[in-house]
Amino acid sequence: MSAIEIHMFPCLSDNYGYLVHEPKSGETTCIDTPDADRILSEAGKKSWNITQIWNTHWHPDHAGGNLAIKEATDCMIIGPAGEEEKIPGLDRAVHQDSLVNLGHVEARVLDVPGHTAGHIAFHLPDEDVAFVGDTLFALGCGRLFEGTPEQMVHSLAKLKALPGETTIYCAHEYTAANAKFALSVEPNNPALRSYASDVARLRSEQKPTVPTILSKELNANPFLRADVPSLQTAMGHVGDEVATFAEIRSRKDNF
Ligand code: ZN
Ligand code: FE
Repeated sequence: MSAIEIHMFPCLSDNYGYLVHEPKSGETTCIDTPDADRILSEAGKKSWNITQIWNTHWHPDHAGGNLAIKEATDCMIIGPAGEEEKIPGLDRAVHQDSLVNLGHVEARVLDVPGHTAGHIAFHLPDEDVAFVGDTLFALGCGRLFEGTPEQMVHSLAKLKALPGETTIYCAHEYTAANAKFALSVEPNNPALRSYASDVARLRSEQKPTVPTILSKELNANPFLRADVPSLQTAMGHVGDEVATFAEIRSRKDNF
C-alpha cells in the first residue's frame, strides 16, 4: 500500500500542481508552485498543512508561488543547488543523490540538467513515483533553454534507468501536441499509435494524460528512443544517439 497520497490539479494554462501528503507524519509537500492561491486552496480543501515545497527548477511557472506559500504556511523550501540564487525563499539546496524526507517517505534527488542548468527530479523509490518537472513529458521532453543535447541525453538516461513501473508525474499537459509530433517521426511505431489514440480519447473527454508510466514512454516517446537504430536511420544519424536526439529536439522546436 502506498504511504503517500498525491493530489493533482490543473494550474495556469497547462501546468499541473501536485500536493503530496504523508498521513503518518501529517507532512505535505507541494511539488513546484505554479499558482500559490490555487495550491493553498487545494491544500485547504484536503485539510492538509503544507510543510515543504520541492522545486524542480527556477522557471516562474514552477517557483513563482514559493514566497506566497511560504508566507502563508512557514514551510521549508527545497530546491536545486545549481539554481540556488534563482529559487525564491530557498532553505535547502540539493543535488544528485541528496535525500529528502516527507515524514517517513524518502525521495532521492537526480540532477537532470538540460531544460535549465540546475534542473532536478525527485524519485521516491519505495512508492515507484518520480516528479520530473519539465525534463520528461508524456511523449515529450523539455526544451533545451540552458543545456546541450548531450546533457539532456545524459539526464534522460537517468530517468530511463528507473524501474519501468515508475509513475512519472510531469509538470505540463502537453501530450496531445507531443503525440502529433511523435507520430511525425515514428509513424509506424505500434506502441506510439495506440498510445496516441488513448491520448486523443482522454483529451476529448477533458481528462488528463498525466501521470504516465515509464515503460510506456520507453516504447513510444521519441526523445527516449534516440538509441533505437530504426529511429537513428530515419533521422539520418546512424550510430549516434546524441545527434539523433538533437535532430528530434530541433524538429520539435520547429514543428
Ligand atoms: Zn520550465
Ligand atoms: Fe514549466
